[in-house]
Amino acid sequence: MELNQLTAHELLDKLRSKQVASGQILDSLYARIEAVEPKVKAYARFKPGNTQANGLAGLLPVTVKDNICTEGLNTECCSKILCGFRPPYDATVISKLKKSGNAIFPLKANMDEFAFGSSTENSSFGPTHNPWNLECVPGGSSGGSAAAVASDEAIWALGSDTGGSIRQPASFCGVVGLKPTYGRVSRFGLIAFASSLDQIGPITKDVEDAAILARIISGYDPNDSTSVNQDLPDYTDSLGKDIKGVKIGIPKEYFIEGLDPEVKLVIEEAIKKLESLGAVSKQVSLPHTQYAVPVYYIVATAEASSNLARFDGVQYGYRAKSDSLIQMYKKTRAEGFGEEAKRRIILGTFALSHGYYDAYYLRALKVRTLIKNDFDAVFKDFDCIITPTSPTPAFKIGEKTADPLQMYLSDIYTISVNLAGIPAISIPCGFSKSGLPIGLQIMAKPFNEGMLFRLAHAFEQSTQWHKVKPRL
Ligand code: GLN
Repeated sequence: MELNQLTAHELLDKLRSKQVASGQILDSLYARIEAVEPKVKAYARFKPGNTQANGLAGLLPVTVKDNICTEGLNTECCSKILCGFRPPYDATVISKLKKSGNAIFPLKANMDEFAFGSSTENSSFGPTHNPWNLECVPGGSSGGSAAAVASDEAIWALGSDTGGSIRQPASFCGVVGLKPTYGRVSRFGLIAFASSLDQIGPITKDVEDAAILARIISGYDPNDSTSVNQDLPDYTDSLGKDIKGVKIGIPKEYFIEGLDPEVKLVIEEAIKKLESLGAVSKQVSLPHTQYAVPVYYIVATAEASSNLARFDGVQYGYRAKSDSLIQMYKKTRAEGFGEEAKRRIILGTFALSHGYYDAYYLRALKVRTLIKNDFDAVFKDFDCIITPTSPTPAFKIGEKTADPLQMYLSDIYTISVNLAGIPAISIPCGFSKSGLPIGLQIMAKPFNEGMLFRLAHAFEQSTQWHKVKPRL
């Protein structure tokens, strides 16, 4: 095994016992990137032959999505409108990583522009390819982070999840992805998409790495008024515990038409596996599930339209040439935003406009509360909820680009979690007949990430799906 193929915890052990030096880890990463990046395209702004020049001191390099601010290092959300933007400060998650002895990898991971998408096709740098089948998407919007981890072009990575953007690409690429409880991880320095939904989280090769990375980036931050001052447990304490008697709810609304039969079968097998380890499962109901997609696309676009108002050519990135100020604003936004960003700005502005606010935005907020109440009711009697992460394995590049509604439906199993603010993890649990990974989603009560790690780790240790690697 090459060093770049190892997990972060394996490498940390080797670094501590001085079996390897961090320079050797970097060399093996760069060699891998030079070899496979032309096919995978997991990184934004990558140029072949350019990697060795990037010096890097520190222990383990973490790959970071292009919407998380890194001081002095381009952070463009893979959008033309932010081209050349170098933040003068680090996001809180980045300063926490640096403080704990980790290094920030100088290449940033590709993503859908401003995290709008489920396939990493909406990037100004072009699409990322799925390492398991280069004709398929890696999922999105953190597709670059997930593909980099799956192809061993990264040791571990950060993504962001507004409606599934960590879990769905983790599922498509056969890696682990955690969306923490809303408020658990500071959003300071995360370029905002939808502020009431966004969370940063880890994308890793196994559950132990996810527990370690989640712990490093979590915690109260006075710079983010929505971050919560709660006890922060050591998540590695949850690993290796048995799962006897853990109560799992299986929501019937997630096993309906549109769920690929192969995915269904693999998920049912996974539930049986958990039962054989001592967990007990029962069918439950989340009756407002059918409203999650429409509610999400009103709330998320409304917040996005407001957050994106700051990109006007004056303060950041791209500025179109023009004689008058108003024309400069208009041209900058017309030329700088991609098609999906424009679609969302228009949708969101409409939902917030006078005369429609009550009918769309306010109503969506009320249904959002009903969706959250559904989860609260189930969590009175159950420790966690299990579903597929995505209704299908990875789809082909180009397959859904012409039909935004089809694309939006690929998030059907992940977005309720963001609307309710609860934590959820996706872990590899098998493959389709054509060899594409399938992900199992586990959800838990707010601030009970420990339960996710406990269950996910027990499953992982008894199955080993995470050990299978794509051939590139
Ligand atoms: N795919 C969803 C969207 O397009 C979720 C994106 C995300 O979580 N950032 O909005």
